[in-house]
Amino acid sequence: MARPAALHTPDRTGGWSQLEDTESPDGRVRSPWAHETATILRHARGGPDWYTLTLSAGALATAALPGQFVQVDVRGDGAVARTADPLLRRPLSLCTIDAAGGRISLIYRVVGRGTALLARARPGDRLSLLGPLGRSFPEPSRRPDQPLLLVGGGLGIPPLAGAAAWARRAGRQPVALLGARRAADLAGVTEVRAAGGAVVTATEDGSAGRRGLVTDILSARLSADMEVWACGPNPMLAAVADLCRRAGAECWLCVERPMACGFGVCIGCAISRAAGDGYLKACVDGPVFAAAEVNVLA
Ligand SMILES: Cc1cc2nc3c(=O)[nH]c(=O)nc-3n(C[C@H](O)[C@H](O)[C@H](O)COP(=O)(O)OP(=O)(O)OC[C@H]3O[C@@H](n4cnc5c(N)ncnc54)[C@H](O)[C@@H]3O)c2cc1C
Repeated sequence: MARPAALHTPDRTGGWSQLEDTESPDGRVRSPWAHETATILRHARGGPDWYTLTLSAGALATAALPGQFVQVDVRGDGAVARTADPLLRRPLSLCTIDAAGGRISLIYRVVGRGTALLARARPGDRLSLLGPLGRSFPEPSRRPDQPLLLVGGGLGIPPLAGAAAWARRAGRQPVALLGARRAADLAGVTEVRAAGGAVVTATEDGSAGRRGLVTDILSARLSADMEVWACGPNPMLAAVADLCRRAGAECWLCVERPMACGFGVCIGCAISRAAGDGYLKACVDGPVFAAAEVNVLA
C-alpha cells in the first residue's frame, strides 16, 4: 500500500506493521495488541464530571505499560446500550496496571456522547477493548540514577499512576507534580499517591495544594540532570517542553489527539514534527514522544 509522502512513520517503528513487539532505542515499548472483553469490577464517580473504571482484563494487564492506551467500545456488549452509535471506539489511557491481579483502571472525564454512554455502565457489564496501543514512556531502568519528575495536568494525571509504580519498581524515586484548575479536578491523584513517592499538588484557585500552575512548581525544581515525563493539556505540555529545553533536561510528552482507529490506519491523529516537514501518528509513533520530536501546539 502506497503511503502519503508527508504522513509516514519513522523507520524505527517498523513502517506499517504494528503487531510486533518493538522497543525503540530510547526505551519506549510498543506491545502486540489484541481485542479483549473486560468485565467491570468497579465504576465510581470521582469528581463532578469524571469516573474511575476498574476492569478485569488479564491479557491487557500483563502486556500493558504506562503511557499506552486502550480503545474502548463505549456501547459495551449490549448491557450498556443496544445501539450502533457511536461506532468509533474512544481512546483512554491506562491508569493503574495490575499484572498479577489481571486488572487495569481507567479514569475518564465525561465530555460528549461516548463518555456519557460509558458513564452508564455498571459493575458486571462487559466492555470490548483494543490494546495495549501506542508507545509507553521510556523504560525507567535505563537511567537508574537520574532524578525523575512526573508532571500531570487534569485528566493527564491518571497515566502517571502507572508510570510512578513502574519507575519505583525499577528503583527510581519519582516526584509527581500534579495540577488542575480546582481540587475537584485532580483526577487520579489518589492512584498516584498509592504508587508511592512524593506528590506535590497545585490548583489554579488554591483549593488544594499550592495556588498556581503545575509548571510554576516545575520551574522551581527543574535542573539539567533531571528526566521529566509529562501528560496533560497541550498548552501545559508546550510549557513543560519549553522549561525542559531551557534547563537542558530530558523531556517526554504523552500527547492526546482525537483518533478513530488507534493503530495507525485512519491518520486522524497526525501530529506535526517539531523539525522538518511532515507528521507523526500519535497512536503508533506515540502517544509518548521525546519533547524535541513534536510540536504539540501545531
Ligand atoms: C491516546 C489518548 C488517551 C486518552 N486518555 C484519556 C483519559 O485517560 N481520560 C480521559 O478522560 N480522556 C482521555 N482521552 C480523551 C478521550 O478519548 C476523549 O475525551 C473521548 O474520546 C471523548 O469522547 P466523547 O464521545 O465523550 O466526546 P465527543 O462527543 O467525541 O467529543 C466531545 C468534545 O471533546 C473533543 N475531543 C474528543 N476527543 C478529544 C481528544 N482526544 N483531545 C481533545 N479533544 C477531544 C471533541 O472535539 C468535542 O469537542 C484520551 C485521548 C487519546 C487520544
